[in-house]
Amino acid sequence: MQPVLHRSPDIPEPRWRTSRFNNIDLRELAQISGPERAFVSLYLANKDSYGGLKGRIDTIRALLKDDPAETEHFEENLKIVEKWLDEHVWETEGICLFVCWALDYTQAFPLTVAVPDLLWVDSSPYIRPLAELQDEYENFVVVAADNTASRIFFVTSARADQDARIKGDVKNNVKKGGWSQKRYERRRVNELVHYAKEIVDVLTEMDQKEKFDRLFLVGSQETMVQIESALTAPLAAKLAGKQNVDFSAGDDQIFDTAFDLFFNAEREAEAKLWDKIKDEVCRGGLAVTGPEEVLKAAAVGRVEKIAVTRDAKLPGTRCRDCENLSAGSLTKCKVCGSEDVFAVDLVNELAELAALTSAETDFVDPIEGLSEAGEVAALLRY
Ligand SMILES: [Zn+2]
Repeated sequence: MQPVLHRSPDIPEPRWRTSRFNNIDLRELAQISGPERAFVSLYLANKDSYGGLKGRIDTIRALLKDDPAETEHFEENLKIVEKWLDEHVWETEGICLFVCWALDYTQAFPLTVAVPDLLWVDSSPYIRPLAELQDEYENFVVVAADNTASRIFFVTSARADQDARIKGDVKNNVKKGGWSQKRYERRRVNELVHYAKEIVDVLTEMDQKEKFDRLFLVGSQETMVQIESALTAPLAAKLAGKQNVDFSAGDDQIFDTAFDLFFNAEREAEAKLWDKIKDEVCRGGLAVTGPEEVLKAAAVGRVEKIAVTRDAKLPGTRCRDCENLSAGSLTKCKVCGSEDVFAVDLVNELAELAALTSAETDFVDPIEGLSEAGEVAALLRY
């Protein structure tokens, strides 16, 4: 049985456990695109919430009115969407669904974290919310340890799986006095060292099996200190926080603490990324700021890591004739001069380019300097 996180205490087991959102291949989705807006992307909490998108559907219909081809794509896509909704159930926090009638393409994924309901029409699957989820809920490992026993959890897509349980059975420190005290102490320390080593062995094995960037220790101070000193260099580099937790309060306490530590580490990493970009920009090094520059670099695969304000609204323009993508709202293509252009979400386009070139997209909480720089910046590879 999987422990369910505190954020969603009532949700039952997902039916589609094989497909966690962290395992969705964004590169694969980013590869699919066409010259016109032939895709509908849908993010939905539950079936009933589809009705709440009716206004949005009417708006899109009105916007597409002058384009018979795109209107046809849209109406046919909606039929596929509605049929899909009729035929499927889900017990997760939500789903995302990508549909393209022209390509005969339907792809659905369950989501273990709720995202706002959204319907989007574009020339490719709208992956921004997925990229944001993957960034916000990177895999991590929690060791919940005291002298009695330790449990190790692998947390992916905001869900924790208990991967291992290691018995410690190290007795609590008691005063005995004299030589027997010394003997007792020595034995106890040996037991702790052995116990910590066993835990580290399990972590090492996990590290080789599945990717995780952060490790957290929660539990009793003595055990955590012992584990920390036993960590190998690669694991020590992943240790991103530890905190005393009394397990008698139940497992919720473990996950509340672990998630607090995780989100703190994540916010710290965001601030660090921005500092690094600033340093590079200041000395004319490997970084760029602003939508135009970031797009230019991303388009040729120079970007290593993008930092973008989570809620940034950055317009982009794509040309139907030459498929060129530009930053900003334009009425004319910069490359071929065609006026047959349509508006896109530049953040989604950047997330796609990043996925295609194995770059990372970091969605960050508002940072004043980043906002002034145009809400987006990037570290470059060369
Ligand atoms: Zn063009």
